[in-house]
Amino acid sequence: MKKLLFTPGPLSTSKTVKEAMLEDMGSRDQAFVHAVKDIRNELLRLAHVSQGEGYECVIIQGSGTFGVESVISSVVGKNDVLLVIANGAYGERIVKMATIHQLKHYVLRFDEDQVVNPEVTEQFLKAHPDITHVACIHSETTTGLFNPIAEIGAISKNNDKTFIVDAMSSFGGVNMNMKTMNIDFLVSSSNKCIEGVPGFAFALCKKAELEKAKGQARSLSLDLYEQWKGLETNGQFRFTPPTLSIMAFRQAMKELEQEGGIAAREKRYQANKKILDKGMADLGFKQYLNADIQGHIITSFLYPADPGFNFERFYQKLNDRGFIIYPGKLSKADAFRIGNIGQIFPEDVKNLIAAIREVLEEEKINVAMVQ
Ligand SMILES: *Cc1c(COP(=O)(O)O)cnc(C)c1O
Repeated sequence: MKKLLFTPGPLSTSKTVKEAMLEDMGSRDQAFVHAVKDIRNELLRLAHVSQGEGYECVIIQGSGTFGVESVISSVVGKNDVLLVIANGAYGERIVKMATIHQLKHYVLRFDEDQVVNPEVTEQFLKAHPDITHVACIHSETTTGLFNPIAEIGAISKNNDKTFIVDAMSSFGGVNMNMKTMNIDFLVSSSNKCIEGVPGFAFALCKKAELEKAKGQARSLSLDLYEQWKGLETNGQFRFTPPTLSIMAFRQAMKELEQEGGIAAREKRYQANKKILDKGMADLGFKQYLNADIQGHIITSFLYPADPGFNFERFYQKLNDRGFIIYPGKLSKADAFRIGNIGQIFPEDVKNLIAAIREVLEEEKINVAMVQ
């Protein structure tokens, strides 16, 4: 049975993206080397920058976390100090990286249901002038909120800090301009809003900042600078590249253009989200976040108060009908998540809502029951 993934990734992909992986591909094949080159240029273009303007794209094998860790562990030098701003599990993941790599760092935390407060951030920077780098998540996939990245970017720039953004679950589904948002490093991966298959992460980097990372890495395989140099000198990866994932990604980028670019994709995701919001509200579900800070990538829904609700059974029965949803990751509330990115269209969301209605009836769950 064909299953649709209503998750934050890996996502449902098109048939043609999967078909791009049918031919074995040597890592020195010209077709592959060209695909890598195209992808690196095209990703910069999607972020409204280019090599000519002093930006570089580095592809890193592995999942999204490998890309974030490559940047964090390569660009924060021995004498540098990182500020991690956290309001969810992905911010906390960067804190873990900073701890493991023994980086000098501070953590500024906000509640999971609140966006990062730019004024508080600025006060923190002023109070701790030793900070050199700031890291923040754009779309906090834990809850689905969007942090005010442009404002934090402006504050970072005004206070002379290097700004690192995990835009994993938003890049490609939200229009982002690295220059006007003052982002020095932007990280995302192959299997999120560009709608490729898993296999690699990429870091879009301000070249002047990337060059400072020379000799600073804490590991061999995640050395961002050396990875970049490898790609620049002969177009090759230092270690086995995710060849088929790259071929699929190039096809996914073509399909993004055919759809009408990021603007059109953003519209489709927003349309999906609107149907999801309305359908779930009609069924009686409450969202974890206030609507004004919620993004259009993924939504957290609170468990119904009805004691008969069992998430495992709910999940399994949806799965049996071909719909994969996602468990929650909140520290303070019981919730599950539904993503609306990937090859998901308004009709699919309507079908998901119909399936949820069916399962609730079968399970005799009264969603509107109050606590
Ligand atoms: C998906 C995601 C990641 C990376 O997760 P992987 O499992 O390593 O691909 C990192 N940050 C955010 C915000 C994400 O949504």
